[in-house]
Amino acid sequence: MDPLVITVAPTGSIPSRDTTPHVPITPEEIAGDCTRCVGAGASVCHIHVREPDGRPSSRKEYFRRVLEQLRPRTDAVVQISTGGRAGSGYEERAGRLDLRPEMASLTTGSVNFPEGVYANPRDLVERLAERMKLLGIKPEMEVFDTSMVEGAVDLVRNGLADPPLHFNFVLGLKGALPATLKNLLHLVETIPPGSTWTVSGIGRAQLPMAVHAILMGGHVRVGLEDNIYYARGVLARNVDLVSRVARLAGELGRPVATPDEARRVLGLAGP
Ligand code: ZN
Repeated sequence: MDPLVITVAPTGSIPSRDTTPHVPITPEEIAGDCTRCVGAGASVCHIHVREPDGRPSSRKEYFRRVLEQLRPRTDAVVQISTGGRAGSGYEERAGRLDLRPEMASLTTGSVNFPEGVYANPRDLVERLAERMKLLGIKPEMEVFDTSMVEGAVDLVRNGLADPPLHFNFVLGLKGALPATLKNLLHLVETIPPGSTWTVSGIGRAQLPMAVHAILMGGHVRVGLEDNIYYARGVLARNVDLVSRVARLAGELGRPVATPDEARRVLGLAGP
């Protein structure tokens, strides 16, 4: 098996200081938290940014500040989110790609989130994919439902993405695919041969999904974006969640990837 690529998703759009004191909000806090997580075994940092009051933000300037602070301190792969909770239009979601991160997330279909429709119409997905391809950014195909695998494969058919693809299965979010081993197995069997995959279990599904992925040869995403608890009633810090996955991988005999090993596994050219 390839070494385990651990992605940390420290912030996301949902966790607030009202629900956990540990969520990093400012670019400085996000870069600091990512640096600690890379020290604990993370090799990819999945970045969202916030306004100073905590609201999700699409401001390129904040993404730039995270990158500027992270790059001298770690050699981690930076993956910028192009998610739409901070603004749904193409310009709002694509502007940050000009910063040329090595990776960016790309959701290839729409889904009913508890707070409303997460709309990713086909033309928007194709324009984002085209922009990533032009800038040499590897997309991480975010899959909330099985049909989104086909949405990603379609991009390859249309020349808007290059194989091998990399998928992130986001499982256990209300409104999307439940986090079961059966669903995970089905997704792994559905993606094109040669693809890589990681899994993001939401909430209490984070730990079991991580263990399945370690054993199955997939990769793991953890972090407060997906889950704010370490155990029932115990709030987590990002570094605790990363450390636990690294420890579990060690116990199960799976080496943890360094950032450069992650680049090899994910087929990245390098920063
Ligand atoms: Zn995200």
